Amino acid sequence: MAITYEIGDALYLNITNRCTNNCSFCVRNSQVGLLPGIDLWLEKEPTIDEVLEDIQKWDAKKYREFVFCGYGEPMTRTYTVIRICEKLKELYKIPIRINTNGHANLICSRDVTPMLAGFVDAVSISMNAKNGKEYQQICLSQYGEKAYDAMLDFAVKCKKYVPQVQLSVVDIMPPKDIEVCRKIADEIGVGFKVRHYVKANEK
Ligand code: SF4
Repeated sequence: MAITYEIGDALYLNITNRCTNNCSFCVRNSQVGLLPGIDLWLEKEPTIDEVLEDIQKWDAKKYREFVFCGYGEPMTRTYTVIRICEKLKELYKIPIRINTNGHANLICSRDVTPMLAGFVDAVSISMNAKNGKEYQQICLSQYGEKAYDAMLDFAVKCKKYVPQVQLSVVDIMPPKDIEVCRKIADEIGVGFKVRHYVKANEK
């Protein structure tokens, strides 16, 4: 099981298998996994110390950024993520990005975005759809259709505390839907990115 893994010039942190969504395209549903030769399925969630210890396997200072992104949704462990970020900033002073479904405030039942200030440099939020109904059809969130508005609200709230906030969609969406999503991102004043859909083991 890999707690940390390298992609390009970034070091990725994999801290949970859990998620508040059950997306139809999720790599967790694949038998072959995301990256060849790397098993991201965690037998147990690593502690903060185990994550920090695992990072020491690498020449961490060489990375352009640390990225919280693994099999599951990192913000199911929001407070752990924030404490790891504090330690990483203290030890390495390297930019930190969180790839998330944007449900942290639902998970914690409070606005946690002020806690990201000074520790998190970028948040990339999976938008996945142009409205709540379609989002729920694709993502099967445990929170139902309200997850979509909560995700957008999280993006808006992050703007105050995180330098780079971006919504993302994958390029398997119809182009006209991508444009609707882009307009929504513009309207709420955050960045927008169309990601290439990565099938399991395509990398
Ligand atoms: S939000 Fe990400 S981790 Fe969660 S089910 Fe969807 S694709 Fe998988």
